[in-house]
Formats: sequence, C-alpha cells, structure tokens
Amino acid sequence: MRILVVEDETDLLSSLALALREERYAVDTAADGEEGLYKAMNWSYDAVVLDVMLPKLDGWTVLARLRKAKKTPVLMLTARDAGRDRVRGLDTGADDYLVKPFDHDELLARLRALIRRSAGHATNGLRIGEVLIDTAARTVSRAGKHVELTAREYALVEFLALHRGEVVTRTTLYEHLFDEDDSTLSNLLDVHVSNVRKKLGHDLIATRRGHGYQVGGPDGEIP
Ligand code: CA
Repeated sequence: MRILVVEDETDLLSSLALALREERYAVDTAADGEEGLYKAMNWSYDAVVLDVMLPKLDGWTVLARLRKAKKTPVLMLTARDAGRDRVRGLDTGADDYLVKPFDHDELLARLRALIRRSAGHATNGLRIGEVLIDTAARTVSRAGKHVELTAREYALVEFLALHRGEVVTRTTLYEHLFDEDDSTLSNLLDVHVSNVRKKLGHDLIATRRGHGYQVGGPDGEIP
C-alpha cells in the first residue's frame, strides 16, 4: 500500500512518514499543495493524507482538483473549526477527516478503514484458501499458524488479496508497493513473489503470463 502525505509542518510530516513506514506502507511526501496535487494526479496512491492549511494551494483546492480526475481515498487534516470543516470536506469529496492534534494510532486506524472500504471490503480479515490476512494487525497466518513476512512481502500479499480474483499488473504492483525513496531493480518483485510462495504456498499467487499476478477467485477460493 502506498500513501501520499501532504503536510507543510516538517516535524509532523516526518513523524507521520515514519509511523506509516513502521506500519509497512510505502510513503511519498509533499510539503505544499502544488507538489501534493502533482503527485496525487500522477501516481496511484491507496490513500492521501492531506492537510488543509498548505502553501501554494490549500487542501480544499487540491482535493477539488483531484476529485475531478480521481477517486483516491483522501483523509483531511484540519486544525480549524471541526464542524464547519467537516461539512466542507465531505461536500468537496473527502472520505474522512481528523482534527489536529491527533493520535497516530487513530490516523492509522482511519487509513486502514479507508483503504479497506475503497477496495470494497467490510472487515479486517481476508481469507485466500488456508491463508488468513488480518489487515488491522497486519499479520498473516497459514492453516492457523502465524507466518513472518517482510514489509514488502506483506504489502504484496495484502494488495493482491484486496484485489482477489483480479489480474494485477506488474506496473500496478510497482506503483503500490514501492515509494519514491525505493530504488528497486526490476526483478525485485519476482523475488518477493518467490519468497511469498515459499512461505505461504506455491499456489497462492498465480502468474498470468504477460499480464501480471492473481490471488484467489472472487470469493477467496484458490482457482
Ligand atoms: Ca499546515
């Protein structure tokens, strides 16, 4: 999962990015509205955390322009009158909002819910055959036994499971699993896929030659 954080307060920006990376997200950052809008329009994020008070373009303008082109889930950060901002945010197409100062755990919980809802899933548990993914705890088990995954391996499994039954292209995976600070070789995705197969079973991730990868059928069954 790849998140964009748009925030001009440097301390808050770096602490948010750190907290998100600790939760295994790929994270891009932007320090003003123009840069934030540019990135949000040009990359595929699973969610955007967008501050309201920003230099160059404020958060409302960024949101309004983004909404003309994309449905990326947006969580607004507001320091102003919460009631008025909430109405304005929901009118403009924000998916959720938090009033500053907020707890990092609260932000993480809201983001998980946003990402899950936008992928059309109501609960924290995703089951693919005997593999169970807990998106709240960010853990994976196979046949009831916990399996330790690296951050990128977990992200790969979670993304494919949220889109189970669909063929996900390599380009899409690169966009959602790696952030602007990652300098990855093009074959690294294959290494992650191969490691996940060793840990969770060779039939979990199917290769669709020339198209990409697929996990499970629409109901989570292994095809
Ligand atoms: Ca600000």
